[in-house]
This record gives sequence, C-alpha cells and structure tokens, in this order.
Amino acid sequence: MFGPLICKPKSSKNNKTGSWRTELRPKYLQKNCIACNMCVLVCPEACIEGSGKNTYNCNLDYCKGCGLCAVICPKQDIIMVKEEEKKE
Ligand code: SF4
Ligand code: SF4
Repeated sequence: MFGPLICKPKSSKNNKTGSWRTELRPKYLQKNCIACNMCVLVCPEACIEGSGKNTYNCNLDYCKGCGLCAVICPKQDIIMVKEEEKKE
C-alpha cells in the first residue's frame, strides 16, 4: 500500500493553514523570551521565527492556533488570545 504522493515538492506553502484557527491565536509578548527556541521546535506548522531574545513571532498565515508554543514556553512569554484581537 502506498502513502500519500507529493506531486509538487514545497507546494504545502500554498496551503495557508491559518484559516483553520477558530477562536484563539498566540500572542508573542517579547518581554521575557530567552531565545530557547522551544516554540520553534514544537510548532507543527514551522511558522515561528526568531533570531534572539524577544524577537520570536509566528506567521499567522500558517498558524492554526494549536497552542503548543504557549504551553511549551518556559517563560510564559506566549499567551493565547481571542482571534478578534488579531488586528491590534
Ligand atoms: S499556535 Fe500552534 S501552529 Fe500556531 S504558532 Fe503556536 S505552535 Fe505554531
Ligand atoms: S519558547 Fe518562549 S522563551 Fe523560548 S524562544 Fe519561544 S518565546 Fe522565547
């Protein structure tokens, strides 16, 4: 039995999974971040980037609001907020 076939490599970038979010999205406070990179490692969408303390953020076009980054952050520097606050 065959698994799924990838006909066009890198085509997953066309699937903007951010539309999967329903109620909550992460908010990166950028106040107590120690650049441990745990949020990057745990994100199933690989949509978080950062290059030093208090620089981390996610691409909401791909974030599906699972909340794993907020749970794993050792400094509680990521919180989940209601989707309406997106346009802050
Ligand atoms: S909520 Fe989930 S998908 Fe969104 S940035 Fe955090 S870990 Fe990634
Ligand atoms: S998990 Fe928290 S402390 Fe670690 S890099 Fe991400 S935002 Fe910063």
